Amino acid sequence: MRPRLFVIALWTPLAFTALAQVPSYEPQPGKSGVDLGAMDTNVSPCTNFYQYACGNWRAKNPIPPDQSRWGRFNELQLRNLQIEREILEKAAQASPSRSAIDQKIGDFYAACMDEKGIDQRGVAPIQPTLDSIKAMDSKEQLAAQVAKLKLIGVNGVFGFFAVPDFKDASVNIANFDQGGISLPDRDYYLKTDQRSVDLRKAYEQHLVVMFDLLARSLNTTWDSKAKAAAVLKFETALAEASMDRVLRRNPESRNHPMTTKDLPGLTPSFQWTAFISDEHTPSFTRINVGNPDFFKKLNGIIEQTSTDDLKTYLTWRLLHSSASALPQAFVQENFQFFDKTLNGQKELAPRWKRCVRATDSALGEALGQKFVEVAFSGPAKAKALQLVGEIEASMKQDIETATWMSDATKQQAYAKLAAVSNKIGYPEKWRDYSTVVVKPDDFLGNEERAAGFEVRRNLSKIGKPVDKSEWVMTPPTVNAYYNPPENNINFPAGILQPPFYNPKADDAVNLGAIGVVVGHELTHGFDDQGRKFDGDGNLRDWWTAEDAKNFETRAECVVNEYDSFSPVDGVQLKGKLTLGENAADNGGIHLAYMALMRNLADKTMPNTKLDGFTPEQQFFLGFAQVWCENATDASSRVRAMTDPHSPGQFRTNGVVQNMMEFEQAFGCKEGDPMVSAKACRVW
Ligand SMILES: [Zn+2]
Repeated sequence: MRPRLFVIALWTPLAFTALAQVPSYEPQPGKSGVDLGAMDTNVSPCTNFYQYACGNWRAKNPIPPDQSRWGRFNELQLRNLQIEREILEKAAQASPSRSAIDQKIGDFYAACMDEKGIDQRGVAPIQPTLDSIKAMDSKEQLAAQVAKLKLIGVNGVFGFFAVPDFKDASVNIANFDQGGISLPDRDYYLKTDQRSVDLRKAYEQHLVVMFDLLARSLNTTWDSKAKAAAVLKFETALAEASMDRVLRRNPESRNHPMTTKDLPGLTPSFQWTAFISDEHTPSFTRINVGNPDFFKKLNGIIEQTSTDDLKTYLTWRLLHSSASALPQAFVQENFQFFDKTLNGQKELAPRWKRCVRATDSALGEALGQKFVEVAFSGPAKAKALQLVGEIEASMKQDIETATWMSDATKQQAYAKLAAVSNKIGYPEKWRDYSTVVVKPDDFLGNEERAAGFEVRRNLSKIGKPVDKSEWVMTPPTVNAYYNPPENNINFPAGILQPPFYNPKADDAVNLGAIGVVVGHELTHGFDDQGRKFDGDGNLRDWWTAEDAKNFETRAECVVNEYDSFSPVDGVQLKGKLTLGENAADNGGIHLAYMALMRNLADKTMPNTKLDGFTPEQQFFLGFAQVWCENATDASSRVRAMTDPHSPGQFRTNGVVQNMMEFEQAFGCKEGDPMVSAKACRVW
């Protein structure tokens, strides 16, 4: 797992799911580019705009069985995935003239596709690591084992990686943080309602089955139930020691500068010197500890856990992390719990999808380089840059006209805005994977070597200047992000495609779609988290006390609004968890709308109706239709607990109900459900 501590993404793809099955849906774009076939015009836009814009899309697009959620993002992911598949199948054909990049990605993909070979090798590829864990005969050796596992991409007990220093974002610092659990959130271990209790039972049963499978593969017998109980007990203790998601959204709660000398004071039972030396990092003394309390409690946890149980936990983390690269029985069992039981996905995705995904995850900038050659045209980049310029002009205008902000804070905000840098499509310099050994008959080994390469690449940055030109998403990714310590907005080639950016659509529709996405990312620089960082990416309070208070009052309105939304019976959204994203959605659309108004006023955009819609109406439809989606109830529950993004329905209705501009565009009246009596506005 790559460290993405600070990155604020546009949406959260489910970590456990592979990608989708081909849907039969064909858009029916009108002259404007609005998908007329997606709309349900039996409903008034003022009653339920999401249903109006997306109702037929939702009816025509049931969730494919190999998915737990299906939306416009997934449609585009599938399109990109098919392009990647073609690239990989071609690259997999061995020939003397094959390029070095084709050898890496082609052999990686081929090794993953070789299901028969994987089944025949059984657990042999993880045998050396299993033996190493087995040889551990005292708790003193825990540190060495944790260090070793981290270097093949298996994270256990806690997190350790290089990130920009909170207070000096120009330099990377070693960061130690809470971690080590396998369920998606600490709450899964701690909540006592019936559903949570049942899920934990199912997880424990999954552990039993996985340990049984391993025993059978090793021709041995052991008490899998006892092992499962030991893992659950250890992970529950880590969960209890962890900070919850809402608290962690405040960057101050994760900023605890210390030195390596402080570590033994926090966790005397852990051999810190051995751990650090085994990671082969550049030498360092300054560190940040994300959650000191976790490391204090970790000491008691280690003391109260037997050496055998620690070994069982490490074995589990290896098994869990390797499951997708092991024989079918392990893959199936991993699917049964993490995809099916937890997220409601009916079927395992076909192997080719899982293998494209694995290659993207392991060698993303090699595959991405080929993807860009095939799928990213020059005009899309130029268009995106022009849009970013327009949206930044809106932000400046928005700050100028803000009546709730003093001039002193405004000056600081202008400075931060001017310092934002824009990254479009793909990195200027591609990552060099030449040292990663990829073999056509060793999928698990390839995965470990590629993951190890990333871990070492990350750790080698400790104490070094931050390279802001690097990307944390691969080019085919259908997503976007703002990076607070780097103060940049990033739009991979994968999202600069229809329905987000459609060269055939009207400008008003594109402004509603990709324009709002750009506005969303830019607003992150000024949301409840982003506003705590300055233009250089340093965690520094540049707000007057009164302006900060005004901001918080405005944000509180958004918290209350989204607290009131329920995606599934008995489940409420968490307004505080989703605040940053909701603020970005609400702010982003204003910025794009301001650009629309300027374009209409100076006549760079014609003020004409298309498909019966005014430019303003096209804009809102372009916006809403990005968020058409269906989700299983199970995945909606997981997301309500873990996802900082609200579901599509609320990303649409929750936004438009705050906007007078929407009310006017569709002639809505006071009392209509899409006209909020308590309209919120942060930006
Ligand atoms: Zn976002």
